[in-house]
Amino acid sequence: MPTDWKVDMERTTTDLRTDKMSPAPLSDEQWQAVANNDITYDGQFYYAVKTTGIFCRPSCKSRLPIRDNVGMFHTSEQALAARFRPCKRCRPSGQRLPDEEWIALITEYIERHYDESLTLDTLAHISHGTPYHLHRTFKRIKGITPVTYIQQVRINQAKRLLNTTDRTVARIGEAVGLSNSPYFVTLFKKLTGLSPEAYRRQIKQQTKENGSHANNDIDT
Ligand SMILES: [Zn+2]
Repeated sequence: MPTDWKVDMERTTTDLRTDKMSPAPLSDEQWQAVANNDITYDGQFYYAVKTTGIFCRPSCKSRLPIRDNVGMFHTSEQALAARFRPCKRCRPSGQRLPDEEWIALITEYIERHYDESLTLDTLAHISHGTPYHLHRTFKRIKGITPVTYIQQVRINQAKRLLNTTDRTVARIGEAVGLSNSPYFVTLFKKLTGLSPEAYRRQIKQQTKENGSHANNDIDT
């Protein structure tokens, strides 16, 4: 194991890979190579994007990430050992990323970023695929579309917040990425059969009847 890897403590607060090897910062030269998709640097290093968990060759044509989120490895084996997944587009490990792993990467991303604006296009960008291919593959593997999956994650989070906080419905909608309150209420009702208020009342009632506070895991 190389000893010169720098673990960047400042950047690891929201990083799920804190217990793994962190990539080293890119030099300016390497960053330029990534920005210019410079094929002459391929094989010299690999860049990894911490927010998405994907690593690429310098020449990858995927959208340029934010520099702060990027680190580098000298070999693809190191990136794999640090639990990064190879980009589907530039295939930095020389192997094809299995569809199951690709979709797992996307569901993990949704579960961490459901409070942000998420569309099929955003997901296609971050996962280095096309929206069409992503939609089809996701549906084949998960049985539902990416958009439905995002909705389910958001509504489950909303249920948790209705259950465990006193925040208003509008605030909870915002907290789960649905700042359009009427839309949030409609979607909540569609997926649970109850309005957010009714759901909260029902939970409170059940908690009272059970005489306990053990209802925090209702949807898990
Ligand atoms: Zn790539």
